[in-house]
Amino acid sequence: MPEEVLGPNILEVENLKKYFPIKGGFFGSTVGEVRAVDDVSLYVREGEILSLVGESGCGKTTTARCILRAVDPTSGSTRFRMKDGTMVDIAKLKETELKPVWREVQMIFQDPFGSLNPRKNLLEIIGEPLYVNGIRDRQTRMNRVAELLELVGLRPEYMHRYPHAFSGGQRQRVVIARALALEPRLIIADEAVSALDVSVQAQVLNLLLSLQRRLNLSFLFVAHDLSIVKHISHRVAVMYVGKIAEMAPTEELFRRPKHPYTAALMKAVPIPDPTLRNELKGLPGEVGNPANPPSGCYFHPRCAYATEICKTKTPELRTVGPDHSVACHHAEELNLDGIGELKSSPMTEALSQPDASTGNAPPS
Ligand code: SF4
Repeated sequence: MPEEVLGPNILEVENLKKYFPIKGGFFGSTVGEVRAVDDVSLYVREGEILSLVGESGCGKTTTARCILRAVDPTSGSTRFRMKDGTMVDIAKLKETELKPVWREVQMIFQDPFGSLNPRKNLLEIIGEPLYVNGIRDRQTRMNRVAELLELVGLRPEYMHRYPHAFSGGQRQRVVIARALALEPRLIIADEAVSALDVSVQAQVLNLLLSLQRRLNLSFLFVAHDLSIVKHISHRVAVMYVGKIAEMAPTEELFRRPKHPYTAALMKAVPIPDPTLRNELKGLPGEVGNPANPPSGCYFHPRCAYATEICKTKTPELRTVGPDHSVACHHAEELNLDGIGELKSSPMTEALSQPDASTGNAPPS
Protein backbone atom coordinates (compact mmCIF):
# COMPACT_ATOMS: atom_id res chain seq x y z
CA MET A 1 0.00 0.00 0.00
CA PRO A 2 1.44 3.42 -0.91
CA GLU A 3 2.11 6.02 1.79
CA GLU A 4 -0.55 8.66 2.49
CA VAL A 5 -0.52 11.91 0.53
CA LEU A 6 -2.35 15.15 1.19
CA GLY A 7 -1.30 17.28 -1.78
CA PRO A 8 -3.65 19.59 -3.70
CA ASN A 9 -5.46 18.25 -6.74
CA ILE A 10 -3.20 17.86 -9.76
CA LEU A 11 -6.06 16.73 -12.02
CA GLU A 12 -9.77 17.59 -11.86
CA VAL A 13 -12.06 15.95 -14.41
CA GLU A 14 -15.62 17.26 -14.51
CA ASN A 15 -18.60 15.98 -16.47
CA LEU A 16 -16.36 14.43 -19.13
CA LYS A 17 -18.24 12.92 -22.06
CA LYS A 18 -17.09 11.14 -25.17
CA TYR A 19 -19.82 10.04 -27.56
CA PHE A 20 -18.81 8.31 -30.80
CA PRO A 21 -21.32 8.74 -33.64
CA ILE A 22 -22.82 5.63 -35.26
CA LYS A 23 -23.03 6.15 -39.00
CA GLY A 24 -25.61 4.39 -41.16
CA GLY A 25 -28.11 4.71 -43.99
CA PHE A 26 -27.45 5.63 -47.61
CA PHE A 27 -25.81 8.95 -46.93
CA GLY A 28 -23.70 7.95 -43.95
CA SER A 29 -25.79 10.06 -41.63
CA THR A 30 -25.53 9.73 -37.86
CA VAL A 31 -28.10 7.22 -36.61
CA GLY A 32 -26.98 6.97 -33.00
CA GLU A 33 -24.07 7.33 -30.65
CA VAL A 34 -21.89 5.18 -28.44
CA ARG A 35 -21.64 6.76 -25.00
CA ALA A 36 -18.12 5.54 -24.26
CA VAL A 37 -17.61 8.11 -21.49
CA ASP A 38 -20.86 9.39 -20.04
CA ASP A 39 -20.43 12.21 -17.53
CA VAL A 40 -17.31 11.20 -15.63
CA SER A 41 -16.01 13.34 -12.76
CA LEU A 42 -12.91 12.45 -10.75
CA TYR A 43 -9.78 14.00 -9.26
CA VAL A 44 -6.19 12.99 -8.55
CA ARG A 45 -4.13 14.61 -5.80
CA GLU A 46 -0.43 15.34 -6.09
CA GLY A 47 1.55 12.23 -5.17
CA GLU A 48 -1.57 10.05 -5.31
CA ILE A 49 -2.36 6.86 -7.19
CA LEU A 50 -6.00 6.76 -8.30
CA SER A 51 -7.00 3.51 -9.98
CA LEU A 52 -9.80 3.43 -12.52
CA VAL A 53 -11.27 -0.07 -12.72
CA GLY A 54 -14.08 -1.84 -14.52
CA GLU A 55 -14.83 -4.54 -17.06
CA SER A 56 -13.54 -4.40 -20.62
CA GLY A 57 -15.42 -1.81 -22.66
CA CYS A 58 -16.60 0.23 -19.64
CA GLY A 59 -14.90 3.37 -20.95
CA LYS A 60 -11.87 3.58 -18.69
CA THR A 61 -9.32 3.64 -21.53
CA THR A 62 -11.34 6.24 -23.47
CA THR A 63 -11.49 8.34 -20.30
CA ALA A 64 -7.70 8.17 -20.00
CA ARG A 65 -7.23 9.05 -23.67
CA CYS A 66 -9.64 12.00 -23.40
CA ILE A 67 -7.73 13.36 -20.40
CA LEU A 68 -4.49 13.33 -22.39
CA ARG A 69 -6.32 14.61 -25.52
CA ALA A 70 -5.27 11.53 -27.49
CA VAL A 71 -8.94 11.80 -28.48
CA ASP A 72 -11.00 14.99 -28.20
CA PRO A 73 -13.78 14.79 -25.60
CA THR A 74 -17.33 15.63 -26.63
CA SER A 75 -17.73 17.91 -23.59
CA GLY A 76 -16.52 18.43 -20.05
CA SER A 77 -13.35 19.77 -18.52
CA THR A 78 -10.01 18.22 -17.54
CA ARG A 79 -8.11 20.76 -15.44
CA PHE A 80 -4.44 20.05 -14.78
CA ARG A 81 -2.20 21.88 -12.31
CA MET A 82 1.03 22.80 -14.07
CA LYS A 83 4.40 22.89 -12.31
CA ASP A 84 4.08 26.65 -11.80
CA GLY A 85 0.73 26.17 -10.08
CA THR A 86 -1.53 27.42 -12.88
CA MET A 87 -4.55 25.29 -13.76
CA VAL A 88 -5.09 24.63 -17.47
CA ASP A 89 -8.13 22.95 -18.97
CA ILE A 90 -6.56 20.36 -21.28
CA ALA A 91 -9.93 19.74 -22.94
CA LYS A 92 -10.08 23.36 -24.11
CA LEU A 93 -6.50 23.81 -25.30
CA LYS A 94 -5.68 24.20 -28.99
CA GLU A 95 -3.43 21.49 -30.40
CA THR A 96 -0.54 23.93 -30.58
CA GLU A 97 -0.89 24.59 -26.83
CA LEU A 98 -0.69 20.95 -25.76
CA LYS A 99 3.08 20.45 -25.91
CA PRO A 100 3.89 21.97 -22.46
CA VAL A 101 1.13 19.82 -20.91
CA TRP A 102 2.42 16.65 -22.56
CA ARG A 103 5.81 17.29 -20.96
CA GLU A 104 4.13 17.06 -17.56
CA VAL A 105 1.57 14.33 -18.30
CA GLN A 106 2.81 11.09 -19.83
CA MET A 107 1.07 7.85 -20.75
CA ILE A 108 2.28 4.26 -20.41
CA PHE A 109 0.47 1.83 -22.67
CA GLN A 110 -0.37 -1.82 -22.21
CA ASP A 111 1.76 -3.30 -24.97
CA PRO A 112 5.51 -2.93 -24.46
CA PHE A 113 6.10 -4.77 -27.75
CA GLY A 114 4.00 -2.50 -29.93
CA SER A 115 5.04 0.78 -28.33
CA LEU A 116 8.80 0.54 -29.00
CA ASN A 117 10.21 1.09 -32.49
CA PRO A 118 12.21 -2.08 -33.27
CA ARG A 119 14.60 -0.15 -35.54
CA LYS A 120 15.77 2.23 -32.81
CA ASN A 121 18.10 1.46 -29.93
CA LEU A 122 17.28 2.45 -26.35
CA LEU A 123 19.36 5.62 -26.59
CA GLU A 124 17.26 6.78 -29.54
CA ILE A 125 13.97 5.61 -28.01
CA ILE A 126 14.46 7.14 -24.57
CA GLY A 127 16.46 10.09 -25.93
CA GLU A 128 13.84 11.04 -28.52
CA PRO A 129 11.61 13.14 -26.21
CA LEU A 130 14.76 14.84 -24.91
CA TYR A 131 15.84 15.69 -28.46
CA VAL A 132 12.38 16.91 -29.44
CA ASN A 133 12.35 19.14 -26.38
CA GLY A 134 15.62 20.85 -27.19
CA ILE A 135 18.42 18.68 -25.78
CA ARG A 136 20.48 18.48 -28.98
CA ASP A 137 23.83 17.57 -27.41
CA ARG A 138 24.33 13.81 -27.77
CA GLN A 139 26.51 13.40 -24.69
CA THR A 140 23.92 15.21 -22.52
CA ARG A 141 21.26 12.88 -23.87
CA MET A 142 23.45 9.82 -23.23
CA ASN A 143 24.03 10.91 -19.63
CA ARG A 144 20.30 11.42 -19.06
CA VAL A 145 19.38 8.10 -20.73
CA ALA A 146 21.95 6.31 -18.53
CA GLU A 147 20.33 7.90 -15.45
CA LEU A 148 16.86 6.89 -16.59
CA LEU A 149 17.90 3.30 -17.31
CA GLU A 150 19.36 3.02 -13.81
CA LEU A 151 16.21 4.55 -12.37
CA VAL A 152 14.08 1.76 -13.87
CA GLY A 153 16.54 -0.99 -12.90
CA LEU A 154 18.34 -1.49 -16.22
CA ARG A 155 22.06 -1.21 -16.91
CA PRO A 156 23.19 2.00 -18.66
CA GLU A 157 25.22 0.00 -21.18
CA TYR A 158 21.96 -1.42 -22.58
CA MET A 159 21.32 1.93 -24.28
CA HIS A 160 23.02 0.72 -27.46
CA ARG A 161 20.82 -2.37 -27.80
CA TYR A 162 17.52 -2.79 -29.61
CA PRO A 163 14.11 -3.73 -28.15
CA HIS A 164 14.12 -7.27 -29.57
CA ALA A 165 16.99 -8.12 -27.20
CA PHE A 166 14.81 -7.59 -24.12
CA SER A 167 12.08 -9.51 -22.32
CA GLY A 168 8.54 -8.14 -21.97
CA GLY A 169 9.22 -6.88 -18.45
CA GLN A 170 12.45 -5.19 -19.51
CA ARG A 171 10.69 -3.54 -22.45
CA GLN A 172 8.05 -2.16 -20.13
CA ARG A 173 10.88 -0.71 -18.02
CA VAL A 174 12.17 0.97 -21.19
CA VAL A 175 8.66 2.36 -21.82
CA ILE A 176 8.63 3.71 -18.25
CA ALA A 177 12.11 5.24 -18.67
CA ARG A 178 10.93 7.02 -21.83
CA ALA A 179 7.80 8.26 -20.03
CA LEU A 180 10.01 9.68 -17.24
CA ALA A 181 12.49 11.39 -19.59
CA LEU A 182 10.88 14.83 -19.33
CA GLU A 183 10.25 14.61 -15.57
CA PRO A 184 6.45 14.38 -15.78
CA ARG A 185 4.29 14.91 -12.70
CA LEU A 186 1.27 12.83 -13.74
CA ILE A 187 1.48 9.39 -15.33
CA ILE A 188 -1.54 7.78 -16.96
CA ALA A 189 -0.86 4.06 -16.99
CA ASP A 190 -3.33 2.19 -19.19
CA GLU A 191 -3.33 -1.51 -18.26
CA ALA A 192 0.44 -1.03 -17.96
CA VAL A 193 1.15 -4.57 -16.76
CA SER A 194 -1.72 -6.57 -18.27
CA ALA A 195 0.37 -7.99 -21.12
CA LEU A 196 3.04 -9.37 -18.74
CA ASP A 197 3.36 -12.64 -16.82
CA VAL A 198 2.11 -12.48 -13.23
CA SER A 199 5.58 -12.53 -11.60
CA VAL A 200 6.83 -9.86 -14.02
CA GLN A 201 3.67 -7.82 -13.43
CA ALA A 202 4.51 -7.69 -9.75
CA GLN A 203 8.10 -6.56 -10.44
CA VAL A 204 6.92 -3.74 -12.72
CA LEU A 205 4.20 -2.69 -10.25
CA ASN A 206 6.73 -2.59 -7.42
CA LEU A 207 8.96 -0.47 -9.65
CA LEU A 208 6.08 1.96 -10.35
CA LEU A 209 5.33 2.18 -6.62
CA SER A 210 8.95 2.92 -5.73
CA LEU A 211 9.17 5.54 -8.52
CA GLN A 212 5.96 7.15 -7.28
CA ARG A 213 7.50 7.51 -3.81
CA ARG A 214 10.94 8.67 -4.96
CA LEU A 215 9.70 11.17 -7.52
CA ASN A 216 6.39 12.10 -5.83
CA LEU A 217 4.56 11.19 -9.04
CA SER A 218 0.79 11.15 -9.39
CA PHE A 219 -0.81 8.23 -11.21
CA LEU A 220 -4.08 7.52 -12.92
CA PHE A 221 -3.80 3.77 -13.07
CA VAL A 222 -6.27 2.12 -15.45
CA ALA A 223 -6.81 -1.57 -14.67
CA HIS A 224 -9.36 -4.36 -14.72
CA ASP A 225 -7.77 -6.40 -11.91
CA LEU A 226 -8.91 -5.47 -8.40
CA SER A 227 -6.21 -7.61 -6.77
CA ILE A 228 -3.56 -5.31 -8.27
CA VAL A 229 -5.48 -2.15 -7.49
CA LYS A 230 -5.83 -2.92 -3.79
CA HIS A 231 -2.07 -3.00 -3.29
CA ILE A 232 -1.02 0.05 -5.22
CA SER A 233 -3.81 2.63 -4.94
CA HIS A 234 -4.63 5.40 -2.51
CA ARG A 235 -8.13 5.59 -3.96
CA VAL A 236 -10.16 3.59 -6.44
CA ALA A 237 -12.84 4.70 -8.93
CA VAL A 238 -15.10 1.97 -10.32
CA MET A 239 -16.60 2.49 -13.78
CA TYR A 240 -19.66 0.86 -15.32
CA VAL A 241 -20.89 1.61 -18.86
CA GLY A 242 -19.16 4.96 -19.15
CA LYS A 243 -20.05 6.23 -15.67
CA ILE A 244 -18.35 6.29 -12.29
CA ALA A 245 -20.32 3.92 -10.05
CA GLU A 246 -18.26 4.48 -6.90
CA MET A 247 -15.08 6.23 -5.80
CA ALA A 248 -13.45 5.88 -2.38
CA PRO A 249 -10.17 5.44 -0.50
CA THR A 250 -8.90 1.92 -1.17
CA GLU A 251 -9.42 0.43 2.31
CA GLU A 252 -12.87 2.00 2.61
CA LEU A 253 -13.93 0.72 -0.82
CA PHE A 254 -12.77 -2.82 -0.14
CA ARG A 255 -14.17 -3.01 3.39
CA ARG A 256 -17.42 -1.11 2.88
CA PRO A 257 -18.51 -1.00 -0.77
CA LYS A 258 -21.70 1.00 -1.24
CA HIS A 259 -22.52 0.15 -4.85
CA PRO A 260 -23.81 -3.34 -5.76
CA TYR A 261 -21.52 -3.41 -8.82
CA THR A 262 -18.43 -2.76 -6.66
CA ALA A 263 -19.53 -5.52 -4.29
CA ALA A 264 -19.96 -7.89 -7.25
CA LEU A 265 -16.42 -7.08 -8.46
CA MET A 266 -15.10 -7.87 -4.98
CA LYS A 267 -16.73 -11.28 -4.91
CA ALA A 268 -14.82 -12.31 -8.00
CA VAL A 269 -11.23 -11.45 -6.95
CA PRO A 270 -8.63 -12.68 -7.11
CA ILE A 271 -8.71 -14.75 -10.27
CA PRO A 272 -5.35 -16.51 -10.39
CA ASP A 273 -5.87 -17.57 -14.01
CA PRO A 274 -5.16 -14.51 -16.18
CA THR A 275 -7.19 -15.99 -19.03
CA LEU A 276 -10.35 -15.68 -16.90
CA ARG A 277 -11.18 -12.06 -17.59
CA ASN A 278 -14.90 -12.36 -16.86
CA GLU A 279 -14.73 -10.89 -13.36
CA LEU A 280 -18.47 -10.99 -12.94
CA LYS A 281 -19.37 -14.59 -13.52
CA GLY A 282 -21.85 -14.49 -10.65
CA LEU A 283 -23.85 -11.58 -12.07
CA PRO A 284 -26.87 -12.20 -14.29
CA GLY A 285 -27.15 -10.64 -17.73
CA GLU A 286 -24.70 -8.83 -19.96
CA VAL A 287 -22.79 -5.61 -19.49
CA GLY A 288 -24.96 -2.69 -20.65
CA ASN A 289 -24.51 -1.60 -24.26
CA PRO A 290 -23.11 1.97 -24.39
CA ALA A 291 -24.84 2.44 -27.76
CA ASN A 292 -28.19 1.62 -26.19
CA PRO A 293 -27.83 1.79 -22.42
CA PRO A 294 -30.65 0.71 -20.10
CA SER A 295 -32.97 3.38 -18.74
CA GLY A 296 -32.43 4.83 -15.27
CA CYS A 297 -29.48 3.22 -13.52
CA TYR A 298 -27.44 1.46 -16.21
CA PHE A 299 -26.79 -1.38 -13.77
CA HIS A 300 -30.46 -2.09 -12.95
CA PRO A 301 -30.97 -5.14 -15.25
CA ARG A 302 -28.20 -6.94 -13.35
CA CYS A 303 -28.79 -5.58 -9.86
CA ALA A 304 -30.40 -7.72 -7.15
CA TYR A 305 -31.44 -4.57 -5.25
CA ALA A 306 -33.14 -2.71 -8.11
CA THR A 307 -36.50 -1.04 -7.39
CA GLU A 308 -38.89 0.95 -9.60
CA ILE A 309 -36.94 4.20 -9.26
CA CYS A 310 -33.80 2.44 -10.51
CA LYS A 311 -35.52 1.71 -13.84
CA THR A 312 -36.49 5.32 -14.50
CA LYS A 313 -34.10 7.71 -12.74
CA THR A 314 -30.35 7.90 -13.32
CA PRO A 315 -28.58 8.04 -9.93
CA GLU A 316 -26.19 10.97 -9.48
CA LEU A 317 -22.72 10.44 -8.08
CA ARG A 318 -23.09 11.80 -4.54
CA THR A 319 -20.98 11.98 -1.40
CA VAL A 320 -21.72 9.37 1.28
CA GLY A 321 -18.59 9.76 3.43
CA PRO A 322 -15.12 11.33 3.51
CA ASP A 323 -13.76 11.07 -0.06
CA HIS A 324 -16.44 8.43 -0.71
CA SER A 325 -19.00 8.97 -3.47
CA VAL A 326 -21.44 6.57 -5.04
CA ALA A 327 -24.06 6.58 -7.79
CA CYS A 328 -26.83 4.42 -6.32
CA HIS A 329 -30.32 5.39 -5.13
CA HIS A 330 -30.14 2.93 -2.24
CA ALA A 331 -26.50 3.26 -1.14
CA GLU A 332 -27.36 4.10 2.49
CA GLU A 333 -29.87 1.25 2.89
CA LEU A 334 -27.71 -1.54 1.51
CA ASN A 335 -25.38 -3.56 3.68
CA LEU A 336 -22.95 -4.99 1.16
CA ASP A 337 -20.10 -7.38 1.85
CA GLY A 338 -16.58 -6.12 1.28
CA ILE A 339 -13.30 -7.91 1.68
CA GLY A 340 -10.71 -7.00 4.30
CA GLU A 341 -7.91 -9.12 2.90
CA LEU A 342 -7.59 -10.60 -0.55
CA LYS A 343 -7.29 -14.33 -0.84
CA SER A 344 -3.73 -15.33 -1.62
CA SER A 345 -2.80 -15.58 -5.27
CA PRO A 346 0.49 -15.55 -7.20
CA MET A 347 -0.03 -11.83 -7.80
CA THR A 348 -0.78 -10.85 -4.19
CA GLU A 349 2.20 -12.88 -2.95
CA ALA A 350 4.56 -11.40 -5.53
CA LEU A 351 3.33 -7.88 -4.78
CA SER A 352 3.94 -8.29 -1.06
CA GLN A 353 7.64 -8.99 -1.71
CA PRO A 354 10.04 -6.03 -1.50
CA ASP A 355 11.21 -4.76 -4.90
CA ALA A 356 14.27 -6.90 -5.37
CA SER A 357 13.85 -6.85 -9.13
CA THR A 358 16.38 -5.03 -11.23
CA GLY A 359 15.33 -6.15 -14.68
CA ASN A 360 19.01 -6.75 -15.31
CA ALA A 361 18.91 -10.32 -16.50
CA PRO A 362 21.16 -10.21 -19.55
CA PRO A 363 19.32 -9.50 -22.79
CA SER A 364 19.19 -12.41 -25.17
FE1 SF4 B 1 -28.89 -1.26 -8.05
FE2 SF4 B 1 -30.73 0.69 -8.01
FE3 SF4 B 1 -28.37 1.10 -6.90
FE4 SF4 B 1 -28.58 0.95 -9.55
S1 SF4 B 1 -29.47 2.52 -8.25
S2 SF4 B 1 -27.04 -0.03 -8.29
S3 SF4 B 1 -30.15 -0.61 -9.76
S4 SF4 B 1 -29.90 -0.39 -6.27
